[in-house]
Amino acid sequence: MFADLHMHTSFSDGTYTPEELAGHAHRHGLSAIALTDHDTVEGCERMQAACDRLGMEFIPATELTIEIEGHEIHLLAYFIDIRHPRLLTELAKFQLVRQNRIREMCARLNQLGVPLAAEAVFKIANCRAPGRPHVGRALVAAGLCKTLDEAFQRFLKQGRPAWVPKFKMSAASAIALVHEAGGLAVMAHPGLNQSDEVIPALVALGMDGIECFHTRHSTATSEHYLMLAEQHDLLVTGGSDCHGMNKGKPLIGTMKLPYTHVAALKSRVQSRRPRAKDTSPIPSLAPRPSPLDS
Ligand code: AMP
Ligand code: ZN
Ligand code: FE
Ligand code: FE
Repeated sequence: MFADLHMHTSFSDGTYTPEELAGHAHRHGLSAIALTDHDTVEGCERMQAACDRLGMEFIPATELTIEIEGHEIHLLAYFIDIRHPRLLTELAKFQLVRQNRIREMCARLNQLGVPLAAEAVFKIANCRAPGRPHVGRALVAAGLCKTLDEAFQRFLKQGRPAWVPKFKMSAASAIALVHEAGGLAVMAHPGLNQSDEVIPALVALGMDGIECFHTRHSTATSEHYLMLAEQHDLLVTGGSDCHGMNKGKPLIGTMKLPYTHVAALKSRVQSRRPRAKDTSPIPSLAPRPSPLDS
């Protein structure tokens, strides 16, 4: 049994709907998947329903952008309660900041003589958590760039003229929020950062795990983070970071995490949650019967 614990839908900057993504995951033989849209959990209900229909296990999640000692880190939050009031309030703030950032990026493009309206980006994004890929797609749709990659290289990459830094929650607040919402906090794609030095500080703040396996990690990189995971007693996760058709080809199916890691995540969550009766299983975490079993 295999899992993919990192993917995005059209509720953030992926191109697939939850149903399409669940369908692809099922065709690739995955048993468990997590939806990690940036700053939103809006796609989780539909993804849960799609997984139920297909007999796959679903893990609600989100991907937050956090800051620690000047490092920008992506934090995956697994098994969160998607109706948790404070989590939803905080996510709504991130979404508002993202929308204002799109306006700022368009203002910068306009100053450069590139006539892109924020409304055109919002129309293409059609979601509450718009990001740079949507600006890129709008630039391509308006004929202002030939490809998404050109849009990033010319305008949107860090250091390019329309790049606007993203609002980042402090690591301490983010990890506390994830725990308050009943979830596990996991450092995303550490191999894409040069931030190993802050791992001990994140562990001290209660971080639960680290994404050792990622499409853009080499075997040596994965092994390096597996070693750090063991050293710091961190849970191990992995995922494709599929964004649908955004980067040319969909990555779903390229990362197959052994299910034992999902089982370890679940037992950590269960050990955290207060139980009404000592022996009763947590209903939301009980394994779902698969139609394939019957
Ligand atoms: P944002 O959250 O708005 O800063 O946008 C980050 C998203 O942009 C991530 O999903 C990245 O994978 C994506 N991204 C970064 N660089 C590129 C690129 N050169 N081409 C396409 N997507 C990119
Ligand atoms: Zn993304
Ligand atoms: Fe990320
Ligand atoms: Fe991601």
